[in-house]
Amino acid sequence: MLDDMIDYLQDIRQRPVWQPIPDDARAAFRSGMPAQGSELAAVHQQFMQHILPNAIGNTHPGFFGWVHGGGTPVGMLAEMLAAGLNANCGGRDHIPIEVERQIVRWMAELFGFPATASGLFVTGSSMANMIALLVARFRALGREVRSHGIPPKRQLVAYASAGAHGCIAQAMDLAGLGSANLRKIPMNAQFQMDVVALETAITADRQAGLQPFFVAGTAGTVDVGAIDELPLLAAVCERNGLWFHVDGAYGALAALAPALRPLLDGIELADSVACDFHKWGQVPYDAGFILVRDGAMHLDTFASRDTYLRRDARGMAANSPWPCDFGPDLSRGFRALKTWFTFQVFGAERIGQVINETCLLARYLEERVAAQPELELLAPVALNIVCFRYRAAGDVDAFNAGLVADVQESGIAAPSATTIRGKLAIRVAIVNHRTGQQDIDALLDAVLKLGAARPQFITTESA
Ligand SMILES: *Cc1c(COP(=O)(O)O)cnc(C)c1O
Repeated sequence: MLDDMIDYLQDIRQRPVWQPIPDDARAAFRSGMPAQGSELAAVHQQFMQHILPNAIGNTHPGFFGWVHGGGTPVGMLAEMLAAGLNANCGGRDHIPIEVERQIVRWMAELFGFPATASGLFVTGSSMANMIALLVARFRALGREVRSHGIPPKRQLVAYASAGAHGCIAQAMDLAGLGSANLRKIPMNAQFQMDVVALETAITADRQAGLQPFFVAGTAGTVDVGAIDELPLLAAVCERNGLWFHVDGAYGALAALAPALRPLLDGIELADSVACDFHKWGQVPYDAGFILVRDGAMHLDTFASRDTYLRRDARGMAANSPWPCDFGPDLSRGFRALKTWFTFQVFGAERIGQVINETCLLARYLEERVAAQPELELLAPVALNIVCFRYRAAGDVDAFNAGLVADVQESGIAAPSATTIRGKLAIRVAIVNHRTGQQDIDALLDAVLKLGAARPQFITTESA
C-alpha cells in the first residue's frame, strides 16, 4: 500500500489532473454496510480502482483550482505515524501536546507575537477565523456572554473587505451576531480594503448606537491574492478600540519567503492570525491554525471546569492548560505531527522558496496572458493567483465558464472560475510545490486551443 502511494505521487504527472467520475466508480459507493469483513488486499484493490483515480487532483502539478495545497510524501508518512500512535491531543500529559506547543512558539516568532501568545491546530481557517471572532466577542461583551449570550440592545458589528472569505460572515452567523452585521467594505483598485471607507462605516455604526468590535483584514484574498494594508488597519483598530484580526488562511505563510515578507508588514500588530498549513505550507489536509496575542483571554473564552476533565499537578492529568481549553474541540488528532515533520525535513527556508516560486510562476503567467491578444487580465497579480478571461463575442461569461469546464475535463490542467467585478474569470491559483513553468505553458496552450474550438455567441443555457 505504501509503495502504491509513493509511486502514485512520483508518477502523478503522467495522470490526468482530474477526470469526470465514471458511473461504476460512483456506484461502488452505494452498497450497504458490510456485515462481514474482507481481506485488506481486496479492500485496497477497491481503493486503487475507484478512489485513487477519481481524486480531485490537487497533488498534480497542473492543479490550479481554488487554493489547494499539494501535500508531500513526508507529510503522508507523518500522518501514518500519527495514526499509529492514535494520540488524542485534546489534553493530558504527553509529548504530542509539546509538539503542538512548539509550533505555536514558531508561529508566534514568525509573526512577531509575544511568547505569551496562544495557538491551536484546527481543521482550517474557517474554524480559526471563528475562534478569533469568539475571543473578540468575549473581549467586547465580557465573561457574561458565555453564560447569558448577547445582552439585549447590544449589537456588535464587524468589518472585512468585500473580498473577504465567506467564512467571516459565517462566523458572525454562528457566533449569534448575524451575518448582516458584517460590513463588507469596498475595495480599492488593488483589491485591498478601502481604509477610509472602513473608518467612515465604523463612525456611522457607532452614531447609530451599534458596537463596532472586530476588523478582519485579509492577507491573500481568495479571489485575487490581495493583501490588505495591515498597518493602516491596525491603526484604525487602535484608534477605535477594535480587535484586529488577520485572515491569513493561505497568504500569511508568505512570511517564510524573505522577498514576500515585507508585504505582510503590520501582521505583528494583529490581535489574532488565522492560517492554514494545508495550503502554501504543503502539509496534507487538514492543518488549520489560529494564533492569539492575548493567550489569557483566549483561554478565558473557551476553558471550562468539567469534573471528568479535572487537572492535577502530577500524573497524566497534569500539563494544564490543554488544547481543549482554547477551542470547541475536545478529542483532536495529532495534526501538529505532519506539520512538524514538514518543517523539520524541509526547513522554513525551503518552504519559503516554494512559496516564492509559485509567485514567480504567477508573474510568468501574467506576462504570457498580457502578451496574448485572445486573453485579458482581470486583476493585478499580488501573489500567486492570476485571473483572466478569453475574449469572446456574445455571452462572454458563459463562454469562459464553459471553457473552464472544458479545460478541467481535458485532464491537462485544472483552473477554477470566479467572478471579478462582475466578470467571470478563469482563476489560476499556483500553490503546489510540484508546479513548474511547463505546467503553466500546458495550461495556457489548453486554454488557447480549447478557447479557439469553442463556439461563440452562445447563451448561458447552452453553455
Ligand atoms: C482557504 C481560505 C479560508 C478557509 O480556510 P479553510 O482552511 O478552507 O477552512 C478562509 N480565508 C481565506 C482567505 C482562504 O484562502
